[in-house]
Amino acid sequence: MSIQLTSVTKTYGNQKAVNNISFSAKKGEIVGFLGPNGAGKSTTMKILTGYIQPTEGSVSVNDIDVISNSIESRKSIGYLPEHNPLYLEMYVKEYLLFHADIHKIQKESISEVINKVGLDKEAHKKINQLSKGYRQRVGLAAAILHNPEVLILDEPTTGLDPNQLVEIRSLIKELGKNKTVLLSTHIMQEVEAICDRVIIINNGEIVIDKKLSELKDSNQQVIKVGFDYKIEEQFLQRLANISAIKNNYDNSWILTFETEEDMRPKLFDFAQEHGLKILELNSENKNLETLFRELTSTK
Ligand code: ADP
Repeated sequence: MSIQLTSVTKTYGNQKAVNNISFSAKKGEIVGFLGPNGAGKSTTMKILTGYIQPTEGSVSVNDIDVISNSIESRKSIGYLPEHNPLYLEMYVKEYLLFHADIHKIQKESISEVINKVGLDKEAHKKINQLSKGYRQRVGLAAAILHNPEVLILDEPTTGLDPNQLVEIRSLIKELGKNKTVLLSTHIMQEVEAICDRVIIINNGEIVIDKKLSELKDSNQQVIKVGFDYKIEEQFLQRLANISAIKNNYDNSWILTFETEEDMRPKLFDFAQEHGLKILELNSENKNLETLFRELTSTK
């Protein structure tokens, strides 16, 4: 397996930054690692890349134990950390040469990588003269220079403008074709645009690990409904096929049904039977965004 985490916990003082998480990823998969700020994404990635050690659990990359054999495992990993720490005073080529030296690889591969990430026109410049999008390309170039099998990208598109976003996403998709990519983000659309699978982490725990195709096939239906009158949650439990009830605000509710049948007419009947008037009714697509809010909301 390219990536394997088993029962990993990382504790800071009495806080569990990640709490007993396990997942794996295989070659060819682009996995979106989603979660709100502070959920534990960076911590997990730092553990995977051997930058910090877990308090408990085991981690391997490309079947090499990251904890006992950290240097060896890093040969299989390309890592783009959050905020892309570059040496801004260096020229692009100089910076990549520096990385090539660290990895003891042939300098010839640099021009190939520069071409691959679309840096040809900017390669003669100093890094501090580049736009944020091109700096990300430099970070990605450094990450793939030694042709690693696994790419760990920590929020690689944060701070990019809409054009740069599209370009970097398609570059990641292209680079990920023959690799395993774990990409953290808090942008749901990003996962929908480039990933095959999504793992959502919240408060240090994995709350979902699914293929995107499975999510799309889901026969769950989410309806936002507002009544003219305050009712108790238990009352809504009487609705057929109901699987989750959440108060939106005041008399407005977010209801999840486990059925393919359109539940809106049933809700009208239900309201009428009980002398309620419906003031608001919206059927929401059960997309990643609703799922994310449901699973990570603190309300
Ligand atoms: P994310 O990347 O999802 O935003 P992090 O992995 O950075 O989340 O952080 C998870 C939790 O662990 C947060 O509550 C954060 O404050 C805490 N944390 C991360 N690094 C440290 C550290 N070095 N010392 C203490 N707490 C930390």
